[in-house]
Amino acid sequence: MTTVAVLGSTGSIGTQTLDVVRAQQDKFQIESLAAWSSLELLVAQVREFRPKQVAIGREDLFEELRRLVPSGTEVLTGPLGFEELAGSADVIVNGVVGFAGLGVTLSSLSAGKRLALANKESLIAAGPLVQPMRAIPGAELIPVDSEHCALHQCLRADLELGNSSRYLRELVLTASGGPFRGWNEEQLASVTVNDALNHPTWSMGPKITIDSSTLMNKGLEVIEAHELFGVGYDDIKVVVHPQSIVHSMASFVDGTTIAQLSKPDMRLPIGYALAFPERIDTEFGALDWDAAISMDFEPPNLDSFPCLGLAFDAGRLGETAPAWLNGANEAAVAGFLQGSISWTGIAAAISASLDKYDGERADCVESVIRADQRGRECVENFLADKSAKNV
Ligand code: MG
Repeated sequence: MTTVAVLGSTGSIGTQTLDVVRAQQDKFQIESLAAWSSLELLVAQVREFRPKQVAIGREDLFEELRRLVPSGTEVLTGPLGFEELAGSADVIVNGVVGFAGLGVTLSSLSAGKRLALANKESLIAAGPLVQPMRAIPGAELIPVDSEHCALHQCLRADLELGNSSRYLRELVLTASGGPFRGWNEEQLASVTVNDALNHPTWSMGPKITIDSSTLMNKGLEVIEAHELFGVGYDDIKVVVHPQSIVHSMASFVDGTTIAQLSKPDMRLPIGYALAFPERIDTEFGALDWDAAISMDFEPPNLDSFPCLGLAFDAGRLGETAPAWLNGANEAAVAGFLQGSISWTGIAAAISASLDKYDGERADCVESVIRADQRGRECVENFLADKSAKNV
């Protein structure tokens, strides 16, 4: 029996993780659950899965949670509560949204646990800090991101033979292209929040759905692939594939390309990360090869979707530049969701913020946090300037 901690249990990744556990109760057992503020759903999850520990991020909800859960369940709160749970089980699922997931990533690895990482932001922003922690005995990083799960599987045979990247030519990340694939500049200028929240193939939380519409999600995933697999930016390519069936590919020196195919269902990468190196027997993601399937591939349009190029730029700068980029992006997406910036303004704000990047080295958590905050502040200043000029 593998014990599982789900941090961010009421979000999209968290609820789908519980689906996988529900379908595989002879293999997985929930040890602890944590959510930031969705008290009602968290309490329902505690009553169903009976974890030993539960945490709520918002400290003002602590007393109420304690009143509502069974008396044998230990109740924790705040970011420190999350970090304590990050050492509580065999596998830690980090489904916290955004930069706030950094503490969970660092705590899980330092506790020598398997980290099933859905919070890509923490690896992207703090890559230079996370990398050495992967050598801690027991610590293991398995991505819960469909593209990186695909790459993990494409590279798996080589990794197991100890050939990590000897024969690799390039990683090819697929992108659905989001809801605005093929739109012209005039159309993109009038995008609404609802348009951007309507993803054609994947069902996800709002932040990542907006990131998918700008291709920033793909840009962040390029940095994530660089960190996970140690491949240089010149050897990582993005290809638009609207059907989201091929989740990514690896090309080798002899001309071979290996791809991973399945339906777009996050429960497959979640189950893969929980069970690796075994595989669980479920129908999540299985394709029906008795039906006709067509697939298209095309290069991305970097002029219409400048966020992808900005992410490559930040990745190549390295050090704290990805943290700066990620902070700027979170602030710009928040501004868009609040209506204080247009969809095309997201890339403009991030670009203006990156222009101010100060080149600080990523040698401690504080420097990463500082870069994240400076990236955000520069976006906020850009937004304030814009509203002052009334444009
Ligand atoms: Mg992805």
